Amino acid sequence: MPFEQPDVIVVGAGPAGSALACLLAERGHGVLLLDKAEFPRDKTCGDGLSPRALRVLQQLGVLAEVNNSGYRINALKVFSPNGEHFTSPIPAHAGYPDHALVLPRFQLDDILRRRAIAAGAEFRRATVSDLLRDAATCVVGVRTDGAALRSRVVALATGASTAVLERAGLLAAPTALGRAARTYFANVRGLSDAVEFHFDSVPLPGYGWVFPTSATTANVGAGYFLRTGRRPLHATPRQTFDGFIANPYIAGLLAEAQPTAPLKGYPLRFDFDRARTAWPGLYLVGEACGLVNPMTGEGIDFALESAELAAEAIHHDLRTGVAPEAAARRYARTLRARFLSVFVNFGRVRDVYFRPWVLNRFVRAAQRHDELKLRLVNIALGHADPFSALTPRVLWQALAG
Ligand SMILES: Cc1cc2nc3c(=O)[nH]c(=O)nc-3n(C[C@H](O)[C@H](O)[C@H](O)COP(=O)(O)OP(=O)(O)OC[C@H]3O[C@@H](n4cnc5c(N)ncnc54)[C@H](O)[C@@H]3O)c2cc1C
Repeated sequence: MPFEQPDVIVVGAGPAGSALACLLAERGHGVLLLDKAEFPRDKTCGDGLSPRALRVLQQLGVLAEVNNSGYRINALKVFSPNGEHFTSPIPAHAGYPDHALVLPRFQLDDILRRRAIAAGAEFRRATVSDLLRDAATCVVGVRTDGAALRSRVVALATGASTAVLERAGLLAAPTALGRAARTYFANVRGLSDAVEFHFDSVPLPGYGWVFPTSATTANVGAGYFLRTGRRPLHATPRQTFDGFIANPYIAGLLAEAQPTAPLKGYPLRFDFDRARTAWPGLYLVGEACGLVNPMTGEGIDFALESAELAAEAIHHDLRTGVAPEAAARRYARTLRARFLSVFVNFGRVRDVYFRPWVLNRFVRAAQRHDELKLRLVNIALGHADPFSALTPRVLWQALAG
């Protein structure tokens, strides 16, 4: 049923927006979920769902459907620039599934959007062009193609697309970006229940990936991180992808394969440490506030986890009627307390480890030391503090080769 005036307008029906809409509707709030795309829609992504993402999907009540549609991943393979590799099982961690999944976003995002609607949110296709503010500059709604829509608060879950933030003058500095491109292949040889991360044949810091979507099909892509304040050194995402699939090992996997979709590139935002995350009446969630892992490029888990925090915060703020300025400060503090230190340390680990000679030595050391291998896998999965990879003992172990 359409709302006269919703409590919350959520802009963007990716994982962050749909999860937030679902959690708020379940708490009894009137939620209008807007997206410019017609669903189901594609989102350029590797489609990997970490155990952390699966935990939230379970909370949302969609894990069974996601499991049925996705491809189960039990291990990770990491290739160093010199082509050596190690394989690690996905370690069990209390409270989390002991596996990951690969599920194309065409399916995942529609499962989540439908879940939000089932919980009571109204979905409408609309492109938001700007934010509405009252006399005190508090955000009180959004402007779409032809209409001004009002609500008590607005949540922006627009991903790496910064157009609304820029137009509203809310993006302080240029965003820290990565770029990546991917496509899907059928008839891929040699796939297993492992996702592959390749640091060979790609510019560093960056990596190529092979994420199986079935025993014979895969999402294959490559991307790189742009170092803050430095000019991009690299080729375009397409050239990076072409270089990656020319690598003899990948060329072997793809010898009889056919692409089943066009190659698509998309940016990633890694600027949570500098991004502003709230203004009076406005809450940012997921990649809209730069929440993508600056080491792995994964953002679905952060999107879902930040939706949980935003739902708690908005529910509290609407129930108590707290002043919008205080609500914005409190939400920004909550996000920082949960994510900032881990986010910064992910970036530090990337800057130390993602160099050819370090990766070559690390992969060789990990082949021989299970403890080192599991430590790094647990860090990449978000189960261990990334800072633990930077202690003198672990660095010595990793660099001894
Ligand atoms: C090539 C690539 C590979 C990746 N691989 C992985 C991976 O394997 N695993 C992983 O966890 N993460 C991966 N990521 C990151 C992940 O895709 C994102 O971090 C994640 O999608 C963020 O979710 P979100 O809900 O915040 O935003 P999004 O998923 O980007 O959703 C934003 C939504 O907002 C809508 N929107 C935008 N602007 C407007 C507007 N003005 N009006 C209305 N609607 C609007 C869009 O249509 C979209 O539906 C990858 C990213 C890239 C580019």
